[in-house]
Amino acid sequence: MAIYYQCRQCGTEMGTISTSEAKHRDLGFDVLSRQEQEEMIHVDQAGHVHMDILCESCHEATALNPELHEQKRWVH
Ligand SMILES: [Zn+2]
Repeated sequence: MAIYYQCRQCGTEMGTISTSEAKHRDLGFDVLSRQEQEEMIHVDQAGHVHMDILCESCHEATALNPELHEQKRWVH
């Protein structure tokens, strides 16, 4: 089982963590509300966890253009 981090805006792969080296607490899951966890964390059929986050460039883009933040996916 592994955890994949992917930008929810542009789809860039941000990295992968194997759960042998990551503890649940270290991932910051417990600082998220239950709704945020359901929105951001997806488990695929193989049991791998996918985290939808913002990459640095998309984070900057949404900071400069807050209206983009409402759109789930503006670059494919
Ligand atoms: Zn991005």
